[in-house]
Amino acid sequence: MANKSKFQAIRGTRDLLPPDTALWNRVEQTAHEVFTTYGFDEIRPPIFEPTELFARAVGGDTDIVSKEMYSFPDPPEATEGSRRFIDAVVAIGEEESTSEGKTKRITIGEKHLPELYRLQEEWKKSDLASLRPEATASVCRAYIEHNMQQMPQPVKLYYMGPMFRRERPQKGRYRQFYQIGAEILGGPDAPAIDAELIEMLMTFFDKCGLHGTELSINSIGHAADNCRRGYVAKLREELLKVKDKLGADSQRRIDTTPLRVLDSKLEHEQAIIATLPHIADHLCDDCKAHYAAVKRELEARGVIYRENWRLVRGLDYYMRTTFEITAQGLGSQNAVCGGGRYDGLVELLGGTPTKGIGFAIGEDRLILSLQEGGKAPAAQGPDVFIAWMGQNAYATAIRAAKTLRNTGFRVELPGTELKFGKALERASKLGSRFALILGDNEVQSGEWTLKNLATSEQQKLSEQALLEYLRR
Ligand code: AMP
Repeated sequence: MANKSKFQAIRGTRDLLPPDTALWNRVEQTAHEVFTTYGFDEIRPPIFEPTELFARAVGGDTDIVSKEMYSFPDPPEATEGSRRFIDAVVAIGEEESTSEGKTKRITIGEKHLPELYRLQEEWKKSDLASLRPEATASVCRAYIEHNMQQMPQPVKLYYMGPMFRRERPQKGRYRQFYQIGAEILGGPDAPAIDAELIEMLMTFFDKCGLHGTELSINSIGHAADNCRRGYVAKLREELLKVKDKLGADSQRRIDTTPLRVLDSKLEHEQAIIATLPHIADHLCDDCKAHYAAVKRELEARGVIYRENWRLVRGLDYYMRTTFEITAQGLGSQNAVCGGGRYDGLVELLGGTPTKGIGFAIGEDRLILSLQEGGKAPAAQGPDVFIAWMGQNAYATAIRAAKTLRNTGFRVELPGTELKFGKALERASKLGSRFALILGDNEVQSGEWTLKNLATSEQQKLSEQALLEYLRR
């Protein structure tokens, strides 16, 4: 017997259904419009990329890369890894002359094994691809690959689409989720650039009708000893003093990424974290001036912000400005956007030193917050339902439907004949605004009957007059 068990969407994924999809489209349309007015163009990178790209850009020991990526083998025809592996094996060999000419005898001794194992690991890694957990890495890869540093700088790009992380699903957290993001690559790191990017974001949220957002900003300095590195050393020192009182995750991070301890949401760690040193007191003069100028620039643009010294990013190439936006109605997953400056990333991915700043909006959460705020569109019914009877009327109905649709109306034309009573019943069920009634009389006289389904008013109009009436 055939297996009749039903299929369900995989945990952490979901169908976006009407009428919600209308809201998704409206949000995306708003992004296209607002970002374009700020001089951004759209980029559509692929959904999967070499795993190594994300390992390098997002960081090998972040949760995203170490636990949450959907990766799969995708060996190219001849990989860089395999070539390097074979070259390495050949290099071990010793040349000798035989009757057939010069050959290489390859004897692999135990002393060669560690190096070969290392190369094999590298080779394996180079054959892995991952579904993208975020898109900044892809945009930087594309910037390098397509020589965009030759274009007028900075290059301003935005993207939207699905991202994939194997996180524990909950409200506002999915395994396939959607981000709308923008990146500014190249050019100077003038504070005005940071401020204008944030202004654009707030304009976008405003145009979406999202109210009650809160913008937090911070500066995390840059990697030098007299700036963030000095601060991190001091932070580690202070954290070691309270190590016993911290949870296991934070204890581990003291060694690896002490800044990340500041991200902790654990209730019992909050009081301890409150006593830790603030980065603002350790910024070098340049970073301090940059931060002060970003704040001035935000004020000049009427952007309201809150400073949050705990807003950090763990990786070295992040620097100076970081920001986050929270929205209402989302419970614990209330961040709708995160962003920051990442001046070292393009170089880390093999490009020339390039300034960069960007953000990613969580579209699922933005939609949730709009819905909680009562911004969900109602299901949309047809503008006109065409109730026809008789083959002559059907020919006219087909033509009328085409004309009305060309004019932009949403039209329902039943493909089988229905008694007028039944047709009007169906029109009401669908939530139609008007019913266009076409029978033999209407076709002969050229006067069509239009019924307003909300008021039950009925009028006779010529085709031309009907179009004009509906347009009004
Ligand atoms: P990130 O790329 O981690 O900086 O995240 C940027 C934004 O994407 C966050 O502020 C969230 O709004 C959203 N986001 C991140 N992870 C998820 C997820 N698993 N589900 C839904 N939204 C997410």
